[in-house]
Amino acid sequence: MDFETFFADKLDGLHKEGRYRIFADLERRAGLFPRALRYSGDDAREVTVWCSNDYLGMGQHPAVIAAMHEALDKCGAGAGGTRNISGTNHYHVLLERELADLHGKEAALLFTSGYVSNWTTLSTLGANVPGCVIFSDEGNHASMIEGIRHSKAEKRIFKHNDPADLDRILSEYGADVPKIVAFESVYSMDGDIAPIREIVEVAEKHGAMTYLDEVHAVGMYGPRGGGVAERDGLMDRITVIEGTLGKAFGVVGGYITASAKLIDFVRSFGSGFIFTTALPPHVAAGALTSIRHLKTSQIERVRHQDRVRKVRAGLDRIGIPYMQNPSHIVPVKVGDAAKCKWISDILLDRYGIYVQPINYPTVARKTERLRITPSPLHTDADIEHLVHSLSDLWSQCALARQVA
Ligand SMILES: *Cc1c(COP(=O)(O)O)cnc(C)c1O
Repeated sequence: MDFETFFADKLDGLHKEGRYRIFADLERRAGLFPRALRYSGDDAREVTVWCSNDYLGMGQHPAVIAAMHEALDKCGAGAGGTRNISGTNHYHVLLERELADLHGKEAALLFTSGYVSNWTTLSTLGANVPGCVIFSDEGNHASMIEGIRHSKAEKRIFKHNDPADLDRILSEYGADVPKIVAFESVYSMDGDIAPIREIVEVAEKHGAMTYLDEVHAVGMYGPRGGGVAERDGLMDRITVIEGTLGKAFGVVGGYITASAKLIDFVRSFGSGFIFTTALPPHVAAGALTSIRHLKTSQIERVRHQDRVRKVRAGLDRIGIPYMQNPSHIVPVKVGDAAKCKWISDILLDRYGIYVQPINYPTVARKTERLRITPSPLHTDADIEHLVHSLSDLWSQCALARQVA
């Protein structure tokens, strides 16, 4: 086998299809978010980031950074082991308590990322519960899909955000079959929000466990940042709530919250939890501070929603089409892979604006888009500059506008 030729051919295929991924080489500037330095070769220029998942700018919050410095100086760099072997630090314990409280659950369990939390929990439940069937929304994130696949449990896919379809599929199974319904609250590419209440009611009717990924909602929705289920008063009806510490909380890591028994089960049987080094203590300390801050502070959430409205109003004014949704994500519709990539490149090179193009396979072909994520720290001037720049490029690409 000529491996090098094999790799080169595969990569060539991606280039030909226009979906070879190129990363922007950035240096985030603490205190200056959403500004960052963009490197091309040895040259560095300031750009404004419009596609960060550090939705609220908590990654540079002075209290978060101070807590991380303090824990770093106190505990050193790493955790020193897996949780089982010498890696459980007091910060992990405090953080798990904080997360359980955030979602009104008995217990929580930390993972090294949201991806790992979804993968481990779904694969552990699916593989160990005898005869278990997992019902998965067709729009679910790769981490859930891979976890379910690895479990080797039977998997059924229901239509996106469609409780009636879920009901129909669940009805094919007897009452004695263990069932898990896995879905998300905010779907991050379209920015649509699941009908959580209706899905939970269908699941309850069939005696199914519910597993909700609130990755794009924690910190941002609900009076304490507990997510959409908190906002809608539904947290106690969901069996497992999963989240990340890497998006609105601005750090890194993932978690689940649930009953004490379920958490103890995943802690005891989940390979992706047991056999990997724990999060560094200072990361846990930063996340702890970020969560505590967002439990009481509304300033970031209010300002964030205001910025989102302002971006949408600006796009409306010049007729740039975007997907309507009830969340904070503004997907601007381009609908052509090459144009989407071109606009993104020119925005970065000539206008100092960074918005990553979202192309196939992340989204369906012909629905290519620029996924804009406003933050509380984008100014009116930033928004004006974004809107004007998009307007210029829309004309140059001869893309259609929408009359409001
Ligand atoms: C980003 C994401 C994850 C993974 O979370 P990480 O902490 O980044 O690993 C899980 N689910 C959804 C829906 C996501 O968008």
